[in-house]
Order: sequence, then structure tokens, then C-alpha cells
Amino acid sequence: MTTMLEARDLSVSYGKLTAVKGVSFAVEEGKIATIIGPNGAGKTTLLKALIGQLPSSGSVVYGGADIGNMEVEARVERGIVLVPETRELFTDLAVSDNLLLGAFTHRRKSAQVKEDTERVYALFPRLKERRAQLAGTLSGGERQMLALGRALMGRPKLLMLDEPSLGLAPLIVREIFRIIAKLGEEGVTMLLVEQNARAALETADYGYVLESGELVHQGIASDLMRDPKVMATYLGKSAG
Ligand code: ATP
Repeated sequence: MTTMLEARDLSVSYGKLTAVKGVSFAVEEGKIATIIGPNGAGKTTLLKALIGQLPSSGSVVYGGADIGNMEVEARVERGIVLVPETRELFTDLAVSDNLLLGAFTHRRKSAQVKEDTERVYALFPRLKERRAQLAGTLSGGERQMLALGRALMGRPKLLMLDEPSLGLAPLIVREIFRIIAKLGEEGVTMLLVEQNARAALETADYGYVLESGELVHQGIASDLMRDPKVMATYLGKSAG
């Protein structure tokens, strides 16, 4: 197994408040790692530090190189792509233009762009149907699909997803996670941050539990789902 990303003793602070406290974890190549945790645990903060939007202490090694002090652009150029919780689409542009802009960021050749667009439309037939529609008029689920699709246009080596299930109805959540699992089967390496512990652990290979900025449990995802401590706190009594 090759480690794609390894964070060691990573801490992130907002002034006096330390939101992420010395966490260490790894994402293996071709696998899905998940970090689950409740509201305010520090999940978004952690991803922002990994992409370089927030300064951090400790180290972040990616593809063998320490990227901890690199600018966002340099990390993106190395293939790290973050799909933020807010989904950040160009609401006044059509679905197809949002996808194009995802490719533009990565200076793709037009033949590749065409191929990548077809791949995204194959994964998300709904986006193809709605390719001329303004992104701002999409439903929540469709926006999440578009945010994911746009990230894929950059052919990410490491795809980081911030709570893809946020604000979505259960049926749509299932659809989004089905696609995440499919991408995983195709070999896309992912770091999935989620409050929806059950969906995340069902989809991921390996899991970490973040609580008040600290990692309190870790293990093979299917084992974590059976772990009574994790189950009681995050999955509700009906689990298992
Ligand atoms: P959620 O699921 O609600 O997004 P989260 O696990 O992603 O939660 P973070 O958003 O990373 O949690 O927040 C972690 C802690 O850092 C919280 O206590 C939050 O209030 C604080 N925090 C987040 N952003 C800022 C900021 N810009 N300035 C100060 N404190 C912040």
C-alpha cells in the first residue's frame, strides 16, 4: 500500500482557539479514508488546512513531499482538489459552463475536456439533462452532483469532500454516496469528511473519529461500524 497523504501532529488555530489539535492520519492511494465527527469537531478546518487555506503546524506529506507550507495553487496543481461544504458554484452560469471552468482551472486540452465532460455526464445523467440550466436554479442534490462533477474535471489525484450529504434528503444522500463508492471502485483516492457517520463508514475503507479537534478512534471502516463506543455516540442505538 502506498500512502498518498500523511498528516502528522497537525494543529490549526483561529487566534486563541485551537480547532484541530495535533492530529495524525493517512490516506492510502486508491482508497477512501473518512473523518467523521459532530458539528464543530474541526472537520472543515482540517480540510482547509490540507488545501492550504489556513496555516497549520505539524506536517503534511503528500506524494512524498512536505506540502505544509505550499500555497493553495501549488497543492491544486499537484492534484489535490477540495469540494467545499458550500459547493461554491457559478450560479449565473449553466451547468455545462461550470464544468468547463473546472477544467479551465487545470489547463486541460480540449480533447481531454470533452472526454472528461462525457465521463461526468455518464456518472451524473441528471447533469446531462440539465446541462443548459443555470447552476443557481438546481436542487440541493443536483448542486452537490455539479460540485463533484466539476472537481472531477480536474482529474484529481486526491479528492477531498466536505460533508457531501449536508442538507440533502436521505434518497439523494444515497445517490451521492453511490457515486462516491463508484469513484472509489474506479481508483480515485478520497478523503471524505462527514457528519453522517453511517453513510461515510459504509462507503470508506478506513475511518477516523474527530471529537473537539482530536482524533479519538480509528480503524477499518467496517470495524468502526461495529465498535460499541463509536456506535453509541455516532450511529444511534439502532446500529448493527
Ligand atoms: P460543521 O460540521 O458544523 O461544519 P466542523 O467539524 O466542520 O463542523 P469546523 O467548522 O472546522 O467544524 O469548526 C471547528 C471549530 O472552529 C468550531 O468551534 C468553530 O466555531 C471554530 N471556527 C471555525 N471557523 C472559524 C473562524 N473562521 N474563526 C474562528 N473560529 C472558527
